[in-house]
Amino acid sequence: MSLLTKVAVYSLLATSVVCLQLPFKLPFFKQKVDVLTDNQVAPQVTPRIAIVGAGAAGSSAAFWISKAKERFGIDVEIDVYERASYIGGRSTIVYPYNDTTLAPMELGASIFVDANKNLMRAAKEFNLTLKDFIDEFSDTGLWDGQKFDIVLNEGTYTKSWWTTLKVLWRYGYSAPVKTQSIVKNMIAEYLSLYTATSHRWDDIADLVEKMNWTDFVNSTTLEYLSSKGVAEKWSREMVEAATRVNYGQDVDKIHALEGTCSLAATGASGVRDGNFLIFENFLKHSGANVYLNTEVRDILRVPGSSRWILHTSSGSRIYKAVILAAPFHQTNISVVSDLAELIPAQPYVHLHVTLLTTRSESTNPTYFGLSPGEKVPKVILTTHEGARAGGVEPEFNSISVHGRIQRAPGSADEKPEWKVKIFSKERITDEWLEKVFGHVGWVYRKEVGLFLFISTMETETIASRNVVDLLLHKEFGSGICGSQLSGPETSEGNPGHDGGSEDFVLGWDC
Ligand SMILES: Cc1cc2nc3c(=O)[nH]c(=O)nc-3n(C[C@H](O)[C@H](O)[C@H](O)COP(=O)(O)OP(=O)(O)OC[C@H]3O[C@@H](n4cnc5c(N)ncnc54)[C@H](O)[C@@H]3O)c2cc1C
Repeated sequence: MSLLTKVAVYSLLATSVVCLQLPFKLPFFKQKVDVLTDNQVAPQVTPRIAIVGAGAAGSSAAFWISKAKERFGIDVEIDVYERASYIGGRSTIVYPYNDTTLAPMELGASIFVDANKNLMRAAKEFNLTLKDFIDEFSDTGLWDGQKFDIVLNEGTYTKSWWTTLKVLWRYGYSAPVKTQSIVKNMIAEYLSLYTATSHRWDDIADLVEKMNWTDFVNSTTLEYLSSKGVAEKWSREMVEAATRVNYGQDVDKIHALEGTCSLAATGASGVRDGNFLIFENFLKHSGANVYLNTEVRDILRVPGSSRWILHTSSGSRIYKAVILAAPFHQTNISVVSDLAELIPAQPYVHLHVTLLTTRSESTNPTYFGLSPGEKVPKVILTTHEGARAGGVEPEFNSISVHGRIQRAPGSADEKPEWKVKIFSKERITDEWLEKVFGHVGWVYRKEVGLFLFISTMETETIASRNVVDLLLHKEFGSGICGSQLSGPETSEGNPGHDGGSEDFVLGWDC
């Protein structure tokens, strides 16, 4: 197995969900602090599972456990520990000017798509209003650091960029059509993860093998598309625009599974008031005890026992099982060395997110070498192609103007302002913002880490479903959907629920 595969397979889908499982034994339950020794363990106390992290992974893990409790009466208590003061982790919002009467902006994860069935289903079940991103991606330009390679109008980026005339003129018919077909096939395979016969996997290598994704994760996006006869110019420009805005990486670096995922933008949506609401609702519906502002410091074995003790900033408690739903190497948690060795490195790219408001409806045309007054696209994506040809690297990965701030009529400052989001490799300075926007009202910066391999809100909910299902089967003899493990190997799983319906979602409908 190549190094790339090895790293990729460990990181993909389960980047941050590691399950520490224990043989069945009733644990001791104590509300407050104190380390307990084994002989203090009281029988007939409801077993407890701890979840570290209240982001997409941790909140959905609690929800999946609660589904099994609800369906099969599994007797277990769930404690979720979160060191931040809020639920959602990297799915979080900020308000322009810190003014909660204004519509919030997503600081991290903004978009999910039709194929993301857990998030779509959750939004529906929890009555959350979705907003469409198509309008926001109308009017898109591709900047190479010195010039616009192509400008597309009429919502072409997400909706019809495969077929728009300008695209056909520049890249020909075959490259977009072949790419579209590759993406379509990848989505069809991916959707099998929601069927009743979906595979279960012990680790990511196992999943990649079962899904036949080895070729995808062993090649860069450029190599993979070229091997399928897709013209390089198309990959290095249009496909790279998508990989840079979604994952901050170029097509000759990013593996092909992630690269094709970044093109699967059909039905791009987000929750109007913030995607974190999905995760809040997962926790609310799970009945879990949620401890905010509580950092987990170490996870140790209870001496002479198969149980675990969690030391947190506000006390210690013993658990039957612990689900680690956070990027381990950023948690500062110490675990016993034989476990630490099992957790692979999680390489990530640094990215700077800059949110701002401005009275300028668009960026300054002269920055882009256009005449004053000339129209600049609302969304500017980038390619490394100019730099490859000896030019300069764009100073940002993407700039998108996200509509106007809607203020209450009669409010003090009624001058129109637009919301802007910038992704960049380097910190964006005030001087640069001044040059590119002229006026800047409010600005908010955050440096983030994006995993080099797939980690999205949805994949975290799939990974957590798998972990919870394996854990409950082992510990309680019954998973989220009952006593049978489904999957082609044990295809009798879930009799009567073959998942044949398009609306069927594994875990929700069993
Ligand atoms: C800028 C940016 C844009 C993105 N855009 C998208 C997008 O458009 N669509 C999409 O689907 N995904 C997107 N993503 C990826 C997405 O945000 C992540 O894949 C997803 O949110 C990860 O969820 P998680 O639960 O695994 O981790 P996290 O959200 O990081 O949650 C882990 C939680 O664990 C907590 N924690 C850590 N250590 C401890 C400890 N010791 N004790 C207690 N708690 C602890 C953290 O505070 C955190 O809340 C984006 C990410 C970034 C950074």
